[in-house]
Amino acid sequence: TEELHIVGGGMAGSEAAWQAARHGVSVVLHEMRPQRGTFAHKTGNLGEMVCSNSFRSDDDEQNAVGLLHWEMRAADGLVMTTADRHRLPAGGALAVDREPFAEDITGALRAHPNVRVSHEEVTELPDEGQWIFATGPLTSEALGAAIARETGSEALAFFDAIAPIVYAESIDMSQAWMQSRYDKGETEDERRAYLNCPMDRATYEAFVDALLAADKTEFHEGETAGYFDGCLPVEVMAERGRETLRHGPMKPVGLTNPHKPEEKPYAVVQLRRDNALGTLFNIVGFQTKMKYGAQTEVLRMIPGLENARFARLGGIHRNTFLNAPTLLDDRMRLRSRPNIRFAGQITGVEGYVESAAMGLLAGRLAAAEMGGGSLAPVPQDSAHGALVHHITGGAEAKTFQPMNVNFGLFRPLEGLRGGRKGRRERYKAYTDRAKAAWTDWLATQAPAAAAAE
Ligand code: FAD
Repeated sequence: TEELHIVGGGMAGSEAAWQAARHGVSVVLHEMRPQRGTFAHKTGNLGEMVCSNSFRSDDDEQNAVGLLHWEMRAADGLVMTTADRHRLPAGGALAVDREPFAEDITGALRAHPNVRVSHEEVTELPDEGQWIFATGPLTSEALGAAIARETGSEALAFFDAIAPIVYAESIDMSQAWMQSRYDKGETEDERRAYLNCPMDRATYEAFVDALLAADKTEFHEGETAGYFDGCLPVEVMAERGRETLRHGPMKPVGLTNPHKPEEKPYAVVQLRRDNALGTLFNIVGFQTKMKYGAQTEVLRMIPGLENARFARLGGIHRNTFLNAPTLLDDRMRLRSRPNIRFAGQITGVEGYVESAAMGLLAGRLAAAEMGGGSLAPVPQDSAHGALVHHITGGAEAKTFQPMNVNFGLFRPLEGLRGGRKGRRERYKAYTDRAKAAWTDWLATQAPAAAAAE
């Protein structure tokens, strides 16, 4: 029988192997550690957590990552059930005792009759066979080069440069307005593609001071600063001169504030739509190494963003990832080579949980395809579905940057009120809808190998 080859035994690869094996597929899991390491991994274990030991919020009614936990538990996810066994007290968050966690993941996969672990680096994209590449943000150099040869170097990034992303509904439109510079664009939509937040001189000066004073994170050890002039952190631009931002991403030209047409803004912060649903906006040119606490404080100084809520904050990291919206189909296959799937952080999701979730899907999708069955598409209303739909289609391909799971990725619900109370109700409705959709989808699949365990 045909084998499924999975490359990378991290969060995604381990979960993919487990899911495929449970569905009766023979899996070879290729992991390069311990022979070849990365700057962040310390052991040869599968499922090693490289940095924090947190799986973030475990609230499956009010938090999108908690919902992802719920869905993974319902799908008998190895990563989640193992995390539950090694849970450490952390309030509403799921913190994990990392060493026994990784040892158990390694043990469970080694003990599974359908899994063989092979410690070796894979350096090519094979022409034959069924493959899942889950080699993560620190994909080895040789394999990175092979992927770039296949996809074109423009479509594979080695650093992310993430600008903060704001929930559209939290922006104060009595101060902000929609307009493209010089009203450029063929269609009305394009002429109103940007959301503008105006600053007067005093606000701009205070804003620059705050950027300069804010706490910043350093690059991780072994990570070299990979940014170049096209995507300098906003605070580095501010360091280059007090006027730099006003002549760069914050230039006030070609824009008229309809709320105060007689007053020319001194500077303008622009936001751009980040997804087709129009629920998320990224702050253009605001990639940053500011610490999270400092970011929210500084960004809320921007007129119109005083009460902004962030779907994700900015960052710059060493991170190998694909331009998934152009390269992957909705079954996570490389369009140019459908025998190859990608999973995990390399698909442009961000975080342990999101990476494992994309492994779960890839493992199930591959198993279904190899079993000759056809699996119904992952329901878009589930957290898994919202995320995979975003990376393979919903996200703007041109400005694609890695994404955390968040409620901005979900199809809006009709008829629920705004405001804080309304938000609780809405999130509960999203999570109820997601759980129902996910449960139905799982019911269409029978774990063939489950009986053999
Ligand atoms: P990984 O878990 O990295 O697994 C990929 C595996 O592939 C590795 O075991 C690697 O050895 C192997 N591999 C690579 N190339 C090859 C090859 N050619 N052949 C064979 N094997 C190969 N996320 C969080 O949620 N919280 C954090 O605190 C956090 N901190 C991070 C810190 C750093 C320094 C980095 C780089 C990332 C961090 N992330 C964090 C982001 C990300 O969620 C994790 O990296 C997560 O482990 C990604 O899962 P993955 O399975 O895609 O990749």
